[in-house]
Amino acid sequence: MANKIRVTVWNEFVHEREDEAVKKVYPRGIHEAIADFLGKDGSLSVRTATLDQAENGLPPEVLDSTDVMIWWGHMAHDRVSDEVAGRVQARVLEGMGFIALHSAHFCKPFKRLMGTNCSLVWREADERERLWVIERGHPIAAGLGEHFELPMEEMYGERFDVPAPDATVFISWFEGGNVFRSGCAWERGAGRVFYFRPGHESYPTYYDANVQRIIANAVAWAAPRVMLPGAAGCPNELVALERIEAKLGAKR
Ligand code: ZN
Repeated sequence: MANKIRVTVWNEFVHEREDEAVKKVYPRGIHEAIADFLGKDGSLSVRTATLDQAENGLPPEVLDSTDVMIWWGHMAHDRVSDEVAGRVQARVLEGMGFIALHSAHFCKPFKRLMGTNCSLVWREADERERLWVIERGHPIAAGLGEHFELPMEEMYGERFDVPAPDATVFISWFEGGNVFRSGCAWERGAGRVFYFRPGHESYPTYYDANVQRIIANAVAWAAPRVMLPGAAGCPNELVALERIEAKLGAKR
């Protein structure tokens, strides 16, 4: 793509302002930490948006100029308006990429795109997480080995109630024995959706080199190949390409 991929990193930005321990890990918020490393990639144009801004930071003009949206949310999913959630979903169906991180498994746009509960089991116990790269040839796994580890993370375990992914790129194993489909890819309409599990707010996960590589790979993978504005319409195609012969006994 000749033009830069326009990325909007959305974050509810609540924990990092209310919880001292989280603030220490992400002083300017998770969104700024993600924008920092993505901003070093010359092929991307990166900006951020947060819940407290007008229209939750996502008025139509922001959506219209976003190729890939990254979403982090946890405790304030219900404060995102239904209108904004619908706007994000519609833009994905038109071709925008959407990357849901960690607790964004329960955010409104992701749930709308999946159509299922998106539920899972979880535990906060400083567990070691080993991510197995099970689709080494997938673009989102580019540059990774067979597996990598995060020394401490929150556990997310199966069953993850999502539709069967088009590709399951990563599976996580946790110290306590649970497993989880940690990297799942889907197509929705003309858009691409990727869910990536790691990123609990109290761990420095978004500074990890492998995690950063995966998010950058996912942005490139999810970038629109085509945009189809008006994809929601169902027009009556009155004018046919070919002449239609009148049929004997037909009503008209
Ligand atoms: Zn979490």
